[in-house]
Amino acid sequence: MTDFAKTRAMFDIPEGMIYLNGNSLGPMPIAAPDAIKRFLHDEWRTELVRGWNTKNWFMQTNTLGDRVGRLIGAKPGFTVVGDTLSIKVFQAVAAGLELVPDRKIILSDNGNFPTDLYMVEGLMKLRNAGYELLTPDPEAMMDQINDQVAVVMVTEVDYRTGRKHDMSALITKAHSVGAIVVWDMAHSLGAIPVDVTSTDADFAIGCTYKYINGGPGAPAFIYVSPRLIDDAEPVLSGWFAHEAPFAFDIDFRPMPGKIDRMRIGTPSLSAFSLLDAALDVWDHVDIFELQEKSVELSNAFIAKVEARCPGVTLASPRDPYARGSHVSFEFEHGYSCMQALIDQGVIGDFRAPNIMRFGITPLFINMDDIERATQIFEQILSDKTWQKPQFQNRSRVT
Ligand SMILES: *Cc1c(COP(=O)(O)O)cnc(C)c1O
Repeated sequence: MTDFAKTRAMFDIPEGMIYLNGNSLGPMPIAAPDAIKRFLHDEWRTELVRGWNTKNWFMQTNTLGDRVGRLIGAKPGFTVVGDTLSIKVFQAVAAGLELVPDRKIILSDNGNFPTDLYMVEGLMKLRNAGYELLTPDPEAMMDQINDQVAVVMVTEVDYRTGRKHDMSALITKAHSVGAIVVWDMAHSLGAIPVDVTSTDADFAIGCTYKYINGGPGAPAFIYVSPRLIDDAEPVLSGWFAHEAPFAFDIDFRPMPGKIDRMRIGTPSLSAFSLLDAALDVWDHVDIFELQEKSVELSNAFIAKVEARCPGVTLASPRDPYARGSHVSFEFEHGYSCMQALIDQGVIGDFRAPNIMRFGITPLFINMDDIERATQIFEQILSDKTWQKPQFQNRSRVT
């Protein structure tokens, strides 16, 4: 059984803060400062360049990749970490297109996180080969999967509303017409159960600074199915993807049959030390139990907001299994209301035009937090605190 009081004690959250934004940036694990200090003192300072061998720096992309892989149902050897999610989108979609060379359509949806769409736009421009990106409404995506489609690029959980795609159904349909699926798990990993093996996924990508709590700018990951690993083209062909990086051959030869071919260049090892510490927390977590807890807390949060906060309407699916692990509400004055909440220690965020977003993350949020956060929300509305001038100015990052 996952002990959520125990996992809560593994995070260092400022006194009095109710942190409902773990879906955007997870909080700091208590073990993080020692982990990075150990890296600095026992690895960088003492080992210097020898650390590539003595501290296994060269293969941490893979050892940490396997730790992430365990959380997505991957067999060891098919997941690596590094770079950023935007880069992984480019890498996975580019590799997917190479696998279906006679097709020109990339299918996504208009609820996808913009960087995923932007990266594909850039890729299409670069290729200049007549590619087309389709972005129907999320609900219409399934119907548009046909034998013209090369790659279906789908972010499972909508970053604004939490609406969830049925990945198993999408993958089955895509495979029936010979299309490749790139599964973006940005808001899934660490939030809901995902399984690349039972769904027979092709490519999966995601980040580790959201629900995994790896820290700001923590590395992304990419998974490639064992079916595709021999043929997946490492389009960003850096030296870490080479068959023999230290042969310093001037021609690129991808590492055959191994996930190493999806590595690019020297990773941020200090960030890896933080990710390693964050992943230790997950050794204590059963993701199905976590989902049950998230459903319980989210349902309570929705019920209390609906009872206490007039004018605020649910923007997320009401069915808890049709969402990820965050819930959103629409409110006309959402931005200033969120600033007033943050001012009182209830940290959520805002997504234009009027979405107030709250991450419900059972690793460190409990029912008392839900009760207190909704009481504060109620008070802000009844006192109209959000009308104060200091809550009207938009910051650069919302
Ligand atoms: C958070 C998120 C990203 C962020 O990409 P970065 O390269 O890490 O900035 C990309 N895609 C989706 C779907 C996200 O939710």
